[in-house]
Amino acid sequence: MTHAITGARTDTVAGQGIVILGTGGTIAGRAARAGDNVGYVAGQVSVGDLVAMVPALAEMPMDVEQVAQVDSKDMDFGVWKALASRVAFHLARPDIAAVVITHGTDTLEETAFFLQRVLKPAKPVVLTCAMRPATALVPDGPQNLQDAVSVARWPGARGVVVACAGEVHSAFDVAKVHTYQVNAFDSGDAGALGRVEEGRLRLFRDWPEAGGLGPFDAEAAAQVQHAEALPRVALITSHADADGVLVRALLDFGFSRPAEAVRGIVVAGTGNGTLHRSLAQALRAAESAGVRVVRSSRCARGPLISGVGQAFVASEGLSAVKARLDLSLTLLGV
Ligand code: ASP
Repeated sequence: MTHAITGARTDTVAGQGIVILGTGGTIAGRAARAGDNVGYVAGQVSVGDLVAMVPALAEMPMDVEQVAQVDSKDMDFGVWKALASRVAFHLARPDIAAVVITHGTDTLEETAFFLQRVLKPAKPVVLTCAMRPATALVPDGPQNLQDAVSVARWPGARGVVVACAGEVHSAFDVAKVHTYQVNAFDSGDAGALGRVEEGRLRLFRDWPEAGGLGPFDAEAAAQVQHAEALPRVALITSHADADGVLVRALLDFGFSRPAEAVRGIVVAGTGNGTLHRSLAQALRAAESAGVRVVRSSRCARGPLISGVGQAFVASEGLSAVKARLDLSLTLLGV
């Protein structure tokens, strides 16, 4: 067995090595009863043990490192910073071709977007996950992990992508769309980037854009490492009978605690980003007070189509959670 925990170097072949980073999630979940796919605790099994469950990976030279062990519903900037730092470290190694990350499904699309937005890697970074815990009668994690490694080793692969249930999705488009099914992810109108079939990748469109020269965007990575927190950006939703009370509460909070004041608000509007007039009024007041306001949609599919006379900047095809992260990183200067 060539697996090493916590980043110790192993006998990687020059330029072809793979690093697997563990962050927790259901893929590392453990239930008291083997048939229980719901009553488990996420983030219990080490990433080394997850790799050991996949026979096809046994003889493959790779490094294995536990970066975090969390339920991804609790993901935070601290874990993202640690993860971005380790991904950047390994991408810079000439002997490493790709990084694979095991992650929970709940915020996987946010982590994928964060890593793509910050690092814009020229080598592939493949996130994978599971909807069933490692102790399930038929766990989906081992196959997903094997597929993720196949994608990571695929010639020409680059950028941050997600491999789950035989599909590959780009960090920009992927979203968790199902609460329970094993194929819980979808890329909306864009569709999946490709499919993994018996270790082979059938690609439908191009890989995510890589930024500039070098293995990743070193300047953006450094900016994130220097930040203590992400600028506060709130996410609110427009709905029937909405009013501006949440927006006014956010502004009041900022007056009483200026250091923690909200710097931006992303509003998931109805349909093509339309807003209840009472909410829109409160958002106009927030914008006048210096808060950046971005419109997104609560619809599962479709970008916002710009028209004449629309208030507030529209997010460019990003889901509301990704638009929130995008605005936060923009406010950070990344
Ligand atoms: N709550 C889990 C997590 O996101 C769900 C999962 O991984 O499927 O970590």
